[in-house]
Amino acid sequence: MEIPEKPSPEVTPWARPFWDAAKEERLILQKCKDCDKHIFYPRIACPHCLSDNIEWVEASGKGTLFSYSVVENNAPSAFTNDIPFVVALIRLEEGVQMLSNMVDCDFGELECDMPVEVTFEKLNDEFTLPKFRPAKK
Ligand SMILES: [Zn+2]
Repeated sequence: MEIPEKPSPEVTPWARPFWDAAKEERLILQKCKDCDKHIFYPRIACPHCLSDNIEWVEASGKGTLFSYSVVENNAPSAFTNDIPFVVALIRLEEGVQMLSNMVDCDFGELECDMPVEVTFEKLNDEFTLPKFRPAKK
């Protein structure tokens, strides 16, 4: 069976800084300069107050595991060789949520609300993906 190549993220012009930073293993988020709230995913206007007065700021890279699913089987896809893997919804300290994967861990030790921290996984020469692992104690 031929396994297709993994898809690359589709990058809008306003999301470009996020991916450029990830390539340097930095996690950045948009922040509204009018209402002071963080924003994810990248947008052209604040979803809270509709202002376009938005800046990029460094994120702490820390958060909690809000929810997750261990994928143990699925139809043949670009991700077949990754099975088992964990699709995870991460709640960052900054208050936004990010869909990612949990890595570098025993999946049996995962539990909701556990502290996590960002790590980075190179997908190809163009993209590095933010992923998460249990936070070091
Ligand atoms: Zn705002």
